[in-house]
Amino acid sequence: MNDDSSSVSQVSLLKQKLQATKVALEEINEDRNSKLMALAQLITQMSLACKGHNLELDNKLAKLRINVGNFEHLDEVLPELPEIERLLKNQYHLVTGKLEQSRTGLTNFSRELQRIDSLPEKLSREISIFRQELSKPFHSIWEYIPKVEQLIGYYEQVLLKQQQGEVLELLPIHRQLSHELAQLITDIEFPKPQRAQVLQLKEVLSSDTLQVEELLSAYQTILRLLLENIAREKSTSQEFLQTLNDALTSVRDIVSDSYSQTQHSQQSKQRLNLEINSQVNNVLGSINEIDEISLLKQKITEHLSALQNSLARKEALEQRETALLQKSVNTLRKELADLSAETLSYKERLFEQQKINQLDSLTQLPNRAALDERMEQEFRRFQHNQSTLWIAVADIDHFKLINDSFGHSTGDKTLQVIAMALKNSLRDTEFVARYGGEEFVLLIPDVSANDITQLLNRVREKIKNIPFKFKNQRITVTLSIGAAQVFNGEHILDTFERADAALYKAKHESRDRVIID
Ligand code: GH3
Ligand code: MG
Ligand code: MG
Repeated sequence: MNDDSSSVSQVSLLKQKLQATKVALEEINEDRNSKLMALAQLITQMSLACKGHNLELDNKLAKLRINVGNFEHLDEVLPELPEIERLLKNQYHLVTGKLEQSRTGLTNFSRELQRIDSLPEKLSREISIFRQELSKPFHSIWEYIPKVEQLIGYYEQVLLKQQQGEVLELLPIHRQLSHELAQLITDIEFPKPQRAQVLQLKEVLSSDTLQVEELLSAYQTILRLLLENIAREKSTSQEFLQTLNDALTSVRDIVSDSYSQTQHSQQSKQRLNLEINSQVNNVLGSINEIDEISLLKQKITEHLSALQNSLARKEALEQRETALLQKSVNTLRKELADLSAETLSYKERLFEQQKINQLDSLTQLPNRAALDERMEQEFRRFQHNQSTLWIAVADIDHFKLINDSFGHSTGDKTLQVIAMALKNSLRDTEFVARYGGEEFVLLIPDVSANDITQLLNRVREKIKNIPFKFKNQRITVTLSIGAAQVFNGEHILDTFERADAALYKAKHESRDRVIID
C-alpha cells in the first residue's frame, strides 16, 4: 500500500512537472512567435523602404514579405535569402556609386558658377565653403538633396542679379549681326515717314546694352518696313501705268471721234457739191433753153441765189468742221501735255530716288552702287583717252577700338568727319565713295606715277591731323591706303584687287601708311 501510494504521488508529481514544462514551453513558443512576428514586421517595413530601386529586388522582397508573414512558409524563405542578400549588396554599391557621382556633379556645377566674372565676392566665398563641404563623401541621398537645394539657391541669386540689370554680354555673332543690320539700313533710303523709326532702330542696334530680343525685333521691323515699301512702290507704278492707259484711251477716242466727224462732213460736202453742180447745170440749161433776156435774167438770178445759198452752207459746214478739228486738236494737245507732265514728274521721282539711293546716308558720300557706276564711267574714259587712272582703297586703322572705347555713335560721328575730310581733300574730277564699314575707295584720274604717293600721303596726313577729342581725350585717327594704277589691257576690277592687296600690305607694315602697287 505504501509503495502504491508513493508511486501515485510520484506520478502526480511528474504530471505536475510535465504540466509546468508544458506551460513553460507554450510561453517560450509564444515569446518566440511574438519576436518572430516583430522581426517579420521589421523585414516587411524594411523591404517596403527598399522598394522602387530595382525591379528584381522588388519582386523578391514582395515574395519575402508574404512568406515571413506566414510562419508555415518560413522554410521557403531560407533558400531565397542568399539571392536577396546579393541583390541588396549590389543595390548598396550602386547607390553609393551614384551618390559619389552626384557629389562630383555638384562640385563641377559650383566650380562653373564661380567662373562667372560678375559673381559678387560674397557669393563666391559662400560657394567656396560649399565646395569644401562637398569634399566629404555623402552617406545617404538625404545629404545630397539639401546640397542640390543650396546650389540651386546660388544659381537663383546669380540669375536674379542678371535680371536686375546686369545684362548678359551679347555674343560676338550678335554684335556682328547688329552691326551689319545697322550698316544695311544706313545704305537703304527709307521714305520720310519711316525715317524716325529707322533712326531709333539704329540707335538701339548700336547701343552697348543691346539685347538679343531687341536685335530680333529690329530685324523683324526692318523686314516689315521694306515689304511695305515694295508694296507702295508697286502701287505707285501701277497708278502711273493706269494714268498712261487712261490717257491713251482718250487719245484713241478723240481720234476715232474726229475720224467719224470727218467722214460725216465728207458726206455732207459731197451732197453740197452735187447740189452746187446741179445748180450750175441748171444755170447752163436755162441759158440754152431760154431766149428771152429778161426771163433768163430772172432765172439766172434765182439760180445764183440758190448757188449762193449752197456756197454759204458749204462755208458754214467747213467752218464747223475746222472748229471741231481745232477742238479735237486742243483736247489732244492737253491730254498729251498732261501725260508728258506726269511722265516728267515720274521721271524726276525716279531720278531723285536713284540719286538718293546712290548716297550713303551716314556720311553723305557716294555709296557702293555709285562707285560701281563711276568706276565703269572712268574706265570707259581711260580706255578711250588712254589717260592715267588710279584706284586707292583707304581703311581706318583700329577703328573697332574707337567703337569699343567710346561707343558706336562716336564711331559714326568719326566716320562722318573723316568722310567729309576725304571729300574736301580731293579735286572735283576725283571721286571718293564709302565702300563699306570704315573703308573708302578713291578714283583719281590724270595724276602721274610720280605724284600719286604725294597726293595720297597728303590725304593721309590730313586725316591724321584732325583734332578728335573723345571723353576729353585727344585721339589721333589714322588711315592705311593701298593704291594701284589701271594698266593698259587690264580690267579695272583687277586694278581694284591690286589696290586692296596693297592696303593689306600697309596694314601689315604697322598701318598709317600709303603703299602703291
Ligand atoms: P584695322 O586697322 O585692321 O582695319 O582694324 P579695324 O578695327 O579698323 O578693323 P576691323 O575690320 O577689325 O573692324 C572694323 C570696325 O569698324 C568694326 C565695326 O564695328 C566698325 N564699323 C564699320 N562700320 C561702322 C559704322 O557704320 N559705324 C560704326 N560706329 N562702326 C562701324
Ligand atoms: Mg579698319
Ligand atoms: Mg576694314
